[in-house]
Amino acid sequence: MTSATMAVVERHIQPCVNDPGSCDYLDGVYWMHDVSMLYSYIMWGVILGILAVWAILRLISPSRRASVPKAELETQATAYPRGAYYRAWRSVAATRQRYLLPESFTSFFGRVTRIQVLILAIISGYLLVFSLVAIIYKTYITPVKGTNLFNTRTGMAGFSDRIGVLAYALTPLSVLLSSRESILSLLTGISYQHFNFLHRWVGRIIFVQSFLHTLVWTVIEGKLYQPQPSVYQTFIAEPYIIWGCFAMLFITFLYVFSLRRVIQWTGYEFFKKSHYVVASLYIGACWGHWDKLYFWMLASLIVVLLDLGLRILGIGLNHIGYTKSGSVGFTPAPATLRTFGTGPDTVIRIDFSHPSPAWKPGQHYYLCFPALSIWQSHPFTPSSLPPTAGATPHHTYIIRALSGETFRLAKLAREIEGTTTPVILTGPYGARVTPETPNLLAVAGGTGISFSLPLVLEAAGSEAHKAGLVQLVWVVRRARDLAWVKEELGVLRARAAEGRVEVRTFVTREGGPMEGDGEEVVMVDGGKEVEVEKMVAVVDVDDENPQNTEASLDVSALVEESRGFSVTYLDGAHPDLGTVVDDYIERSPASGGRIQVMASGPAGIGSALRSAVGKCNDGRKVGRGEEKSDVGLYWDDRFL
Ligand SMILES: Cc1cc2nc3c(=O)[nH]c(=O)nc-3n(C[C@H](O)[C@H](O)[C@H](O)COP(=O)(O)OP(=O)(O)OC[C@H]3O[C@@H](n4cnc5c(N)ncnc54)[C@H](O)[C@@H]3O)c2cc1C
Repeated sequence: MTSATMAVVERHIQPCVNDPGSCDYLDGVYWMHDVSMLYSYIMWGVILGILAVWAILRLISPSRRASVPKAELETQATAYPRGAYYRAWRSVAATRQRYLLPESFTSFFGRVTRIQVLILAIISGYLLVFSLVAIIYKTYITPVKGTNLFNTRTGMAGFSDRIGVLAYALTPLSVLLSSRESILSLLTGISYQHFNFLHRWVGRIIFVQSFLHTLVWTVIEGKLYQPQPSVYQTFIAEPYIIWGCFAMLFITFLYVFSLRRVIQWTGYEFFKKSHYVVASLYIGACWGHWDKLYFWMLASLIVVLLDLGLRILGIGLNHIGYTKSGSVGFTPAPATLRTFGTGPDTVIRIDFSHPSPAWKPGQHYYLCFPALSIWQSHPFTPSSLPPTAGATPHHTYIIRALSGETFRLAKLAREIEGTTTPVILTGPYGARVTPETPNLLAVAGGTGISFSLPLVLEAAGSEAHKAGLVQLVWVVRRARDLAWVKEELGVLRARAAEGRVEVRTFVTREGGPMEGDGEEVVMVDGGKEVEVEKMVAVVDVDDENPQNTEASLDVSALVEESRGFSVTYLDGAHPDLGTVVDDYIERSPASGGRIQVMASGPAGIGSALRSAVGKCNDGRKVGRGEEKSDVGLYWDDRFL
């Protein structure tokens, strides 16, 4: 302990024997310590209070069923909610969607909604205020015993300790915001990945607090206290200060190596694994630095270990059971892989049947492919429906090949053609996303179809959606991309013929049916590649290779227009999603109630929809019972 800290401790346990200035100062420092501890508890009181209110609001949110006369609920007649409570509730929701759904400050924060930015602003404002109030802004010049030197004592120590205490108290929050087995998701109903933005920013706030805490104590012990350099040398050699230096080193690593540019440079896998290890080391170093606040670090470690433990349990639940030989053991799922397209257009379809805990449409699993590496697992969304009771679940995944594990997976798919590869899965993860209204517009960009397809398949066959309009809008690069989910589209086409669903496909890189783009197009079917110059050529190819004809015929059958099933070619343009949403709202029946848009795909689609959907909301109209002005958006964020 340094002489200064010793003095603080002495002053606290016995009458002050120092000069009056030092005694006064030390009294102030101790008072500020007590207040800092109180503020950290109050902060958690506020956090828990907000979560409790959130959970209660979810429980008491009114249902439309109770608000609309029964006869109107089932008919196409103009149905509108009569209950004032329901209308007021939805009116507030629509106003919030109008103003807080669109994105703001994207050049600084990236593609996040205003609500996320607002929450961050409130957290930052709260922390700023509570870092600066109840600090004694006073300077004491006090003599150093046995010398003719003077110490300069200011409110800096109290301020530095305040931000240190708040940084400790924020650590469990940051860990909670990052965990996959998320208690926050249970309470709020929000899927864990949507907390990622706040996790990153709370982490950055902790970094800034730690940096300032270190800087201020360095100035105090290296400059303001005398004599120098002996005071500083004693200070820096203290074990708790050495722990503090390590903690600062670790938090700096976490900050630098989670910058987007640095992740691009080091690769996502390095980021993920090093983040996990270094964050645990940071928690340990903080414990070593100031063990009187160990409980914040213990809470953080408990959340980390719980998350890890539940993940391992998740693997067990998915794979441990009776094996073929009748004994209990570990059985990976035998998966077939199929590839479509080449280069940046490569997509892999995975299929397997395997006993696993049931999932809900929109949830995802983490898949590990031991044939590639047992150290990597990646999140993917099943595009198949969960099984009906008693049946063995069938999993289908539609995966875009990028440059890491998914690239190697595409290579493996071509190598193992005709056989299977083991898959280890853990999950399901993510909050259950239900449309909660008969009017459902599902929008998918490319492989985002894996999120939207099961929602639409379920809605198209459900009684709950009979009074509304269920529409799937799928934006693909090329018409042949429809082959990824050929069987499922067949089911939707049949449903569309019955008037239960509409499917609108937009092909962005082709100008019309059977038109290629001049590039070499490779069609892959059943793992066999078929090289052709243009798609139009595929149709004309001689039957030398029957695979060609089959593949091309598949495409022409897939894009065939039928009742409720349309394909629009945009020849290099993107669809105007604002118009798509407006058209949908125009055509959706009033008896279908409010409108829910659920979407997944490239981030640009999310941005366009946030802006388009935000504009369609009007709280005043909703208050008058016009439910079509109450439009919600669920965006399946994949961080791509
Ligand atoms: C909840 C969720 C559901 C998803 N569902 C699907 C799906 O159904 N189909 C699909 O094609 N893609 C889906 N993705 C995206 C998919 O997980 C990534 O494309 C995949 O992990 C990339 O692996 P890679 O090693 O080839 O990536 P790389 O080429 O090495 O990196 C490309 C980018 O992929 C992302 N990424 C890499 N590894 C991970 C990881 N372990 N976790 C999260 N992101 C990662 C990073 O943003 C990275 O910058 C989903 C992502 C999330 C978060």
